[in-house]
Amino acid sequence: MRIVVAVKYVPDIHADRAFEDGRVVRRSDEGTLNELDENALEAALRVVEGLPEDERATSEVVVVTVAGPDADAAVKKAFQLGVDRGVRVSDDAIAGSDYFGTARVLAAAVRRLSAESPVDLVVTGMAALDGLGSVVPALLAAELDLPQLTLAGTLELDGEAGARTARVTRELDGVDEVLEAPLPAVVSVTDHANDPRFPNFKLIMAARTKQVEAWSLADLEVDPAEVGDAGARTRVLAASPRPPRPEVEIVVDKGEGGRALAEYLIRNELV
Ligand SMILES: Cc1cc2nc3c(=O)[nH]c(=O)nc-3n(C[C@H](O)[C@H](O)[C@H](O)COP(=O)(O)OP(=O)(O)OC[C@H]3O[C@@H](n4cnc5c(N)ncnc54)[C@H](O)[C@@H]3O)c2cc1C
Repeated sequence: MRIVVAVKYVPDIHADRAFEDGRVVRRSDEGTLNELDENALEAALRVVEGLPEDERATSEVVVVTVAGPDADAAVKKAFQLGVDRGVRVSDDAIAGSDYFGTARVLAAAVRRLSAESPVDLVVTGMAALDGLGSVVPALLAAELDLPQLTLAGTLELDGEAGARTARVTRELDGVDEVLEAPLPAVVSVTDHANDPRFPNFKLIMAARTKQVEAWSLADLEVDPAEVGDAGARTRVLAASPRPPRPEVEIVVDKGEGGRALAEYLIRNELV
């Protein structure tokens, strides 16, 4: 079983964000593995752990990220969680890629990995916490012409080796929907799918010997004109930080709380 997990290196959402020319300014010391991609990693690792012993021994979980060299930090974190192999796709021509460009590069990386040995499953997070597009998984499935199971709250495999299906549960409004698709497939998992593990000492030590592989567009035979600024189908017209929220006034109830609240509402013309 070979599983590819797409992970994004994102600016720390708790840090102040800056924009330049409509883009998020990415500072090398402030990035982190997208938190929601930890659920994708966990889901992939659990799939492998659930396989029969002989299959588990030959299984591989590979992470792929499309980003600059700083993103090695995210791949290394994935190593510490037990991932076998990590690839970072970087190229000057990727700068300015929109969702389509990002999905195209990711798809090319999955195709290259499949050419080495078939990939059975591609797992992604439900969203990147900086872009919040939630569209890359669907675009990736379309690029690869694979079935997509999005926003999975659970992920299990059914059937025997060579004829497996992925089965997921999707939590809709008041309904749990169960969906199945033959492998290979693309699955995006939600933050309800699992509780991501923490690195342990053994895995941290093992991760130190693993190298992040750097691939370029040429390695993937992707035409630079189809990605980056050149290939972007959308344009960011403006991006600016929202004004800070107004100060919060806490009304402490010492017997006069109701009156104080009413006065607050009247003063702020909320009634
Ligand atoms: C016109 C335009 C120009 C842009 N220019 C830039 C730019 O110059 N630099 C820049 O960094 N961003 C740029 N962006 C943003 C960039 O396109 C998106 O961040 C990217 O396409 C992913 O979208 P998202 O963050 O909404 O991911 P989502 O769709 O929310 O991500 C869902 C999942 O897909 C996977 N995934 C998403 N992105 C990646 C990735 N890069 N590598 C691996 N897995 C991934 C993860 O598993 C993630 O959980 C630009 C966007 C637009 C519209």
